[in-house]
Amino acid sequence: MTADSSATKELGIYVCPACKRPLHREDGALHCPACSKTYPVKEGIPDFILEELSKSADPVLRRMRFIDRMARIYESKLWYPVVLKIYGGIHTLSFAQLITTVTQKVRSTEGRVLDIACGPGTYGRRVASLSKEVFGIDVSMGMLRQGVAYTAKEGNPNMHFARARVEALPFEAGLFDATLCCGSLHLFADTTIALREMARVMKPGAILSVFTFGVGHGGILKFRRVRESSRRNHGLHVFELSEMEQYLAAAGFKDFQPQLSGSILTFSARKKAT
Ligand SMILES: [Zn+2]
Repeated sequence: MTADSSATKELGIYVCPACKRPLHREDGALHCPACSKTYPVKEGIPDFILEELSKSADPVLRRMRFIDRMARIYESKLWYPVVLKIYGGIHTLSFAQLITTVTQKVRSTEGRVLDIACGPGTYGRRVASLSKEVFGIDVSMGMLRQGVAYTAKEGNPNMHFARARVEALPFEAGLFDATLCCGSLHLFADTTIALREMARVMKPGAILSVFTFGVGHGGILKFRRVRESSRRNHGLHVFELSEMEQYLAAAGFKDFQPQLSGSILTFSARKKAT
């Protein structure tokens, strides 16, 4: 089976990110009759972002070309290990430990897994290799293309990619048994809106596993002035644990289980039953 035919089979799972109604397949694209919107499918990757992000008011989204270009080095020694040491601290988790810490929380889950801001599938591919169906979304087409290339090379048919924003997920409610959100929660413009949309597409009791940054004792993020300037200039939000617990409760999650290593925050939470 080619990457294209596998991707085509999976297109049926997506709904319109705006109105959440089913989509029709038309000429290699997905069409919403209710919104009169057509979402193109590019190299097997459905694209649900119709606006030009380089003109976005959000400083993170405006940097998309840079993020697109970073895709090739993202999983190399040049990026993640360096970021973890500088931001998280010299004694914090290694890249390999971080992947294990985050993915083992969804290991025992049966069913579908959502990978929010999946990049090239850095975490989702690990979970997909355990024979779980993983749907990754990201705003960067460069990252998604790199992810498709990795999964083709690794021969892993269980990881699927789509371009979408966390605030408007192209999935029906209650679809997922688990959600990963790694290296991105601190970059979303509105944490509560992002978490609420994740909760919407999760089943009651489904587990959320996150890696983000917290106010801790390692790396440059232990300094208040660095945190404040990162927030102001780069849209990077470093969370207090109590603050994160409040965001989660407001978005419909419970059972907050945080672990802070330096300034690296990993945690799990569960979607409330009602
Ligand atoms: Zn629609």
